[in-house]
Order: sequence, then C-alpha cells, then structure tokens
Amino acid sequence: MKIFTVGPVESYPESGQAYKHSFSYFRAEEYSNLVKGNLARLGVYLGAPTQEGVFYLTASGSGAMEAVVTNCIGQNEKALVINGGTFGKRFCEILEYYNIAYEPLSIPFGETLKREMLEEYSDKGFTCMLVNLHETSTGQLYDINLIAEFCRSQDIYLYVDAISTFLADEYNMKAYGIDATIISSQKGLCLSPGLSFIALSERQMDKCRSLSSRPPLYFKFSNYLAEIARGQTPFTPAVGIMYELANMLDKIEREGGLSSWLEGIRQKSTYFRREAKKRNFTYPAYPLSNMLTPLVFTKGNAWSVYQALRDEYGFTVNPCGGSLKNTLLRIGHIGNLCLQDFDALLDALGELERP
Ligand SMILES: *Cc1c(COP(=O)(O)O)cnc(C)c1O
Repeated sequence: MKIFTVGPVESYPESGQAYKHSFSYFRAEEYSNLVKGNLARLGVYLGAPTQEGVFYLTASGSGAMEAVVTNCIGQNEKALVINGGTFGKRFCEILEYYNIAYEPLSIPFGETLKREMLEEYSDKGFTCMLVNLHETSTGQLYDINLIAEFCRSQDIYLYVDAISTFLADEYNMKAYGIDATIISSQKGLCLSPGLSFIALSERQMDKCRSLSSRPPLYFKFSNYLAEIARGQTPFTPAVGIMYELANMLDKIEREGGLSSWLEGIRQKSTYFRREAKKRNFTYPAYPLSNMLTPLVFTKGNAWSVYQALRDEYGFTVNPCGGSLKNTLLRIGHIGNLCLQDFDALLDALGELERP
C-alpha cells in the first residue's frame, strides 16, 4: 500500500514516534518552549513579516480559512475571491455564510489566471483579495507576482491560503506583501491532520484588534495572539502534532534546509512529469505546483482507473470530485516517496490505461 495523495501523505516513519508525546502537559514550560521554537522556524520559512503574528489553531485547513475570513475581514468590506475550483469555492461559501460581500473571479477549468482577468476587477471597491495560491483541485499554481502587484496597485489586503504550495514551491510573505497566510499540518509539512498555522502582517494584527465584528470565540485571533507570545493557546491544542512538527523541521534542516527540501520535491515532480510524458500521459497547460501533477484522462475513465489502482495495485492517488471526476487524477509528490515509487505507479497506470 502506497499513498500518492497530497494530505494526509505517505508519512515518514519518525512522525509516528514523535506523536507519542501526546500525553505531555501542554501548560508546562517544556511544551511552551517547543511551540516557540517551532513557530520561530516556521516564521522564517514563511518569510513572515513579524514573528509576533505567527500562531496556530487546532483545526483542519478549512477551519483556518473560516477563521481568517471572520477575524480579518469586516462586515462592511468587499472581497475578491479567485475561484478556480473546490477551494476557491469554499472561500465563497464561507463569505456567503457570514454575509460578507464578495465577487468571485471564476476561472474555467483549463484556463490560466492572467493579468487581463484581474484588471477587470480594478477600481471596483474591493478591500481585500482571498486566494488559494495553489488551487489543489486542479493543480493550477497562480502567479503570485501578478496577484501581489494587483493588490498593491489597488491598495487592498491580500489573504493567501498557501496550504498546498508551502514546502513545495517558493513562498515569501514579506516579498509579496501578504497580510495573512494559512497553512495546515497534513500537506507540505507531511504531518498528521489537525493543526493549522496562521501568519499575519503587522497592519493585519492592528486591523484584527480594531474590527467590531465578532469572530467565533473559539477562533478569536486576538486571544491567540495574546497567548502565543509565551508559547500558549487559549484551549488545549493537538499536542502530538506539535511534537511531529519539531521532528519534521529537524529533518528538513538535517537534509540541507528549506531550499534543498524544495529542490527535492521539484526533482520528484520533474521526474514524474517527464516519465509520464514519455508514456503519452498528458497534464493541463496552466502553471503547476510541484506538490502534485494532475493527469488528464481524455477517455473519461479517471474514476475507474483510480479504483483499479487502489484495488489491484494498492496505490492511492487523489481522485477529483464534481465535474472533473472522470477527467483528472492528481498524483502527489510530497511525503515519503522516492523515484522508484513513481516508476511503479506509472507502470501500473500504463497497464490500466494505454493513452
Ligand atoms: C487541503 C486544503 C485545504 C484544507 O482542507 P481540510 O480538509 O480542511 O484540511 C484548504 N485549502 C487548500 C488549498 C487545500 O489544499
């Protein structure tokens, strides 16, 4: 059994060991120090504009998306949402639910987000943009340069769900003037699901404190910001995953640090794409994240190939939902996988599906 999914991923054996610390008491100094150390290292990897704005929630990524919407955006604002698939749609649903005005910039499957598309939304009264920088449901990686330039020119806040690009592609909050970043434990970090991390800019921290709207009390950022300075959270966190995180950050450092880590993932995605092409598999023409490769099944049999891979070969890949169910399968390149694993997967795909 091998999993080629993007979260949870094929985990590293050390993680299971680290998780056993679940039972340490989280109000003790040992745990506070662990948290402070982990968040300081994550802050550097994120290019966070201020370490004081880095904290974490016990919630999956969608919880953190909802928390960002409710803590960062006021009731009288108007948000622009880049909606290129499942996760863009999720931001729209959250805004809708909380009655915050928004417009989706919808990208039909197969199209690339371009400057002209953004320009249509210039000077229309938006106060912020929400984007899933890598729209995991299609594999499209949006151009952060374009997005950051647009937000700067419009003088609006920029909120980025970086869940499926962080630790697979270059990312830097400071360089692009990003006001809030969301990441979660089970994607690029390759940990158990259950923790999300948020990093805020200084102006966003001020904005959160001054908004009159009432975010859910459990997710109220100002309470988290007040506690995190001493390595604590208002409520009991998922302690075990914090230990896994220390272990993973040590691993990344042992293996040469962030840029070598990114290079390792890039090599896997490049290898996979080259080998897939040789075997006449195709993937969409829009820019892709190194986290995954979406393969196109022109005969419309993606779902049955997904099932056969799982049942006959013990390989689990990411199927798609909705209108792409029979068109795409997504192959993750993160986690404890090596080039031979990708060869084995492609052999199996070749036997099941001769393009
Ligand atoms: C995985 C993912 C999420 C979070 O999904 P959860 O199931 O709540 O963890 C959010 N945004 C993106 C872009 C993702 O890939």
